[in-house]
Amino acid sequence: MTRGVAEVDLSAIAANLDVVAERAGDAQVMAVVKADAYGHGMLPVSRAARAHGVPWLGVALPAEALALRADGDAGRVLAWLWTPGDPDVDACVAQGIDLSVSTTWALAEVAAAARRHGTSARVHVKVDTGLSRNGAGPAEWPDVLAAVAQAGAEGAVDVVALWTHFADADTPGAGSVAAQRTRFADAVAEAAAAGLRPDLQHLSNSGGLWAHPDLRAGLVRIGIAMYGLTPAPALGTGADLGLVPAMTLRSALANTKAVEPGTGVSYGHTWSTRAATTLGLVPLGYADGIPRAGSDRVEVAVAGQRHRCVGRVAMDQFVVDLGRDAAEAGTPVVLFGPGYSGEPTADDWAHAMGTIGYEIVTRIGPRVPRAYVGGAA
Ligand SMILES: *Cc1c(COP(=O)(O)O)cnc(C)c1O
Repeated sequence: MTRGVAEVDLSAIAANLDVVAERAGDAQVMAVVKADAYGHGMLPVSRAARAHGVPWLGVALPAEALALRADGDAGRVLAWLWTPGDPDVDACVAQGIDLSVSTTWALAEVAAAARRHGTSARVHVKVDTGLSRNGAGPAEWPDVLAAVAQAGAEGAVDVVALWTHFADADTPGAGSVAAQRTRFADAVAEAAAAGLRPDLQHLSNSGGLWAHPDLRAGLVRIGIAMYGLTPAPALGTGADLGLVPAMTLRSALANTKAVEPGTGVSYGHTWSTRAATTLGLVPLGYADGIPRAGSDRVEVAVAGQRHRCVGRVAMDQFVVDLGRDAAEAGTPVVLFGPGYSGEPTADDWAHAMGTIGYEIVTRIGPRVPRAYVGGAA
């Protein structure tokens, strides 16, 4: 019995992609596989998504895009976040990776790389319509458009798309969505006036696809729904949305012990037994991505029965109160999974500790091996 394993069900990923494709209608799907596919493993997930016909992969970093190419992926890949002088940008241009640009410095770096390689770099020009992260805001937009038009006229860049990202796409009725949509339409009109009329626009992530299906445009960028978790509890649980959580985090008890009433548990003795009980030790901790904020809050399934984490989550281990349930070292523990066998979901964990399911799965660390089921990894 291994200490811990994050089992990833590739058939769940495929089924979730089918649900997404149905909602996406005519829009193409970009499978977002940044951050090691939200902890699920970038290469196996990407291969599964491609095998399922996904035309686009999306990553944050140029280095992530290059890792896909090194794995043999020859399809469309978009990378959108880097700092000036990132040495991977040059290789991305050489290897036909689409890059997002939203500043004149980024455009200049991409165009310079294209000239070095005697090619034309594929760029997606990003508009900040109100999220206030990357993207060109109204003050920068004219300069960015002028620079892009110039590089386009020289043949250094090929403008593939205009795009943006929403602050509150997963909230039905959010007022900011209408304001961002209007700003995007204005930015598109200004681009057209500057001679830039790319065929493709993209605006929506998973939450947008569910809460605002009219924002699908030509392409939707889908992360969390592919992994089977909800974009926002206000939209329903993953199961309500027809999704299957792809990751099951498994472990096994490393120890059990019968203890007296009044026994303090873990660092700081934040919890003590009220009655005689049995404690079980789960050998995963915050070094593995089990949030310390889950102390005294999250539940796990031990041999199919729910038990609560008691006392503080430590670096390598935490304790559960087994009550009267008999269990011994080696008894299987499911920390979270699809929820079909009594275990909580990652979304349940997120709810218990005031965060989002994205953070729960993405933070499962490299010390936890991944195992793939339900398809060829
Ligand atoms: C991460 C990310 C996505 C995917 O978002 P989900 O909510 O996981 O679907 C889409 N677009 C951008 C720009 C992102 O950074």
